[in-house]
Amino acid sequence: MNKRQRKKVRKKAAIQHYKESGEDLLHCEQCGKKLDVLNEYHWKWGTCGSYCYGKLVGVYY
Ligand SMILES: [Zn+2]
Repeated sequence: MNKRQRKKVRKKAAIQHYKESGEDLLHCEQCGKKLDVLNEYHWKWGTCGSYCYGKLVGVYY
């Protein structure tokens, strides 16, 4: 699968996930910044970086 196809598949999966759980995988859960579906960190944690993830889970206040 090439990069473009992978992106398409992930976007589709994200939209499906949003419909099912209401969780938006295309935007950072913490700051709302647009996420790159092909960035493994973004995809896995749903945040744009470790700082936002830390805020989300309560590591930073
Ligand atoms: Zn963020």
